[in-house]
Amino acid sequence: MTTNANRNEGDIVVIGGGVVGAAVALGLARSGARVIVLDEGDVAFRASRGNFALVWVQSKGLGMPEYALWTRRSAQDWHGLAAILREEAGIDVVHSQPGGFVPCLSEAELEKRTTAMRRLHNQEGLADFPYEVLGRTETKRRLPDIGKDVVGALYSPLDGHVNSLKLFRALREASARHGVDYRPNHAAEAIEPRDDGFRVRGAWGEIAAAKVVLAAGLGNARLAPMVGLDAPVKPSKGQIIVTEKTAPFLHHPMGTIRQTDEGGVMIGDSQEDRGFDTIVGQPVISVMAERAVRTFPRLAGLNVVRTWSALRVMSPDGFPIYEQSEKHPGAFVVTCHSGVTLAANHVLTLAPAILAGELPAAVASFSARRFHVPVHA
Ligand SMILES: Cc1cc2nc3c(=O)[nH]c(=O)nc-3n(C[C@H](O)[C@H](O)[C@H](O)COP(=O)(O)OP(=O)(O)OC[C@H]3O[C@@H](n4cnc5c(N)ncnc54)[C@H](O)[C@@H]3O)c2cc1C
Repeated sequence: MTTNANRNEGDIVVIGGGVVGAAVALGLARSGARVIVLDEGDVAFRASRGNFALVWVQSKGLGMPEYALWTRRSAQDWHGLAAILREEAGIDVVHSQPGGFVPCLSEAELEKRTTAMRRLHNQEGLADFPYEVLGRTETKRRLPDIGKDVVGALYSPLDGHVNSLKLFRALREASARHGVDYRPNHAAEAIEPRDDGFRVRGAWGEIAAAKVVLAAGLGNARLAPMVGLDAPVKPSKGQIIVTEKTAPFLHHPMGTIRQTDEGGVMIGDSQEDRGFDTIVGQPVISVMAERAVRTFPRLAGLNVVRTWSALRVMSPDGFPIYEQSEKHPGAFVVTCHSGVTLAANHVLTLAPAILAGELPAAVASFSARRFHVPVHA
């Protein structure tokens, strides 16, 4: 490892200080690396500041069973991550795994979701993923506040949630205590591979490091080719509504409704292909609110205190991209749309592997090479 005290040299430069970059940086520093994080700052599109805070497993991985396994592993390891953050940052991120529901508002919807769940679990290695399909009576028994339009629900004990603002703060705080050098307003404009590592440049100057990790969210699409990688990520808009605080009534997260530890109810989160548009749009918000009120009629009596929209970081098939450059070993790309859920994996599994120089077998399927398979007529 580099021992030079020059402040513009590190073992590893992480480009991007969102929840993904912050998690990787913490994992690297906990493994002993000298880490510099470069972040573009508030002008950037930042998915991490707009998220719904689920640590969500059910419904993940149809079409790529490895993603379901990777997600379940992170959900399991989240208990350890929460303990680390409590100890090393002094922050309780209010993680819990009480199991999550997806309430359905018509028989057709329940049938469609059940079929998708069966197909998901028929894939190799996923037979033992626990989940239940609940009819109305059982759903009402477990969630007494549901409205008359709820016909049933899917339930998985693997699902949970956190306080994502506290998570972000805790990752940063723990990283700082481990010596991570976080530099806001440091957009990386160019990366130059050299024999002894990489030079990263911006308007602020230049930094040298033996390794570079691209964790710049939507910015990865532009940066990856500079080091022989590919990250064809695009924005997927998500809108969220937050109500005033109310007494606790919802003790489980749902796919699109959750009550935070502070009492507000979050209603989310749409998926829209609208390019880089982040304007909150009335029609979509109205549909989300209407569904939420049909699911829990008591929500109609709460005031909305905030709405926002943010851009997810979406690969062509929706699965993560993890890869080390073949052309320029030491350069890695790490990108996904569920960085809260996968934070435990990023801190505890991926980062130590990046430092060791080889990605684990569990992530071999997440190479961007999957997008280069020729399509035959
Ligand atoms: C509406 C919505 C709901 C979500 N809900 C959930 C959820 O419930 N559960 C879950 O697990 N995940 C959820 N997510 C996703 C999660 O919050 C993460 O944001 C996502 O995984 C991507 O994180 P990221 O750090 O890669 O990207 P970002 O948060 O976009 O961070 C990228 C960072 O890179 C920086 N950057 C970009 N270009 C450069 C450059 N050239 N140089 C230096 N820095 C650069 C930016 O400043 C930014 O800070 C949600 C996201 C959205 C939008």
